[in-house]
Amino acid sequence: MTSPRTVYLNGAFLPFAEAHVSIMDRGFLFADGIYEVSAVLDGKLVDNAAHLARLDRSLGEIGIRNPHTLAEWEGLETELVARNALDEGLVYMQVTRGVYERDFGFPPADVPPTVVMFTQGKKVAGNPLAETGAKVVTVEDIRWKRRDIKSVALLAQVLAKQEAVKAGVAEAWMVEDGAVTEGSSSTAFIVTKERVLVTRPLSTALLPGITRAAVLRLAAEADLRVEERLFSVEEARGAAEAFYTSASAFVMPVVAIDDAVIGEGRPGPLARRLRELYIDMARAG
Ligand code: PMP
Repeated sequence: MTSPRTVYLNGAFLPFAEAHVSIMDRGFLFADGIYEVSAVLDGKLVDNAAHLARLDRSLGEIGIRNPHTLAEWEGLETELVARNALDEGLVYMQVTRGVYERDFGFPPADVPPTVVMFTQGKKVAGNPLAETGAKVVTVEDIRWKRRDIKSVALLAQVLAKQEAVKAGVAEAWMVEDGAVTEGSSSTAFIVTKERVLVTRPLSTALLPGITRAAVLRLAAEADLRVEERLFSVEEARGAAEAFYTSASAFVMPVVAIDDAVIGEGRPGPLARRLRELYIDMARAG
């Protein structure tokens, strides 16, 4: 028997069914909030300090006071993982600008942010899709101009992912001015015929992926050639390999982009190697 799901809301660990947020919460009314996601493997948080640093940065960029120190966040996450006996999966942290009568301007400074945390069980390292590789579709990137902020305003990503669902594939890659920006919930990479890893450089046009940064470190350690530059859908369709990275997918090989088969339709050697290196790093803690 599994124990009932425990979540965290504003200072208390509660059974899921008892955790309620006001209809006047600004996260609900305006998508006025930030979130963050860390993976859990073997019951341990993966690359968590970097996720908490990005949470702090995102909150700062939209002027929400970070309600917790990094040590407090980590303590809450660890407690939530333990209470849910989570071995493999994800921890979500969501912070909104709090509850106040609906009005576009910020509420008074003494209105506390709303803090929600929950876990999801998921096979992140043991995901069978990594064996066969994922297919992706391309969609237009219709998002706002501050995609470096991990905002809870995810409507464009929801619509993009639904295009993938409709096509029966795992992910959608978003495209702006002919170049791939990123996946709906992942960072996009390709490998050229010359075995060069290519991913878009960081800017306000995409989220600074924590897994992206780790993979770039691992690639440098393995003496792989890396270019941070824009790449077009055309170049991606003709690439030797492709993959995407995220806290929830780690390194996911891509075997098709729209109707173009990538490589031989199987996960490529560099994608497979980087996935192994990443999982080793995650397990080493
Ligand atoms: N881009 C977007 C739009 C995302 O939602 C995600 C997932 N959080 C990523 C990239 C990958 O980021 P990370 O590796 O930090 O999970």
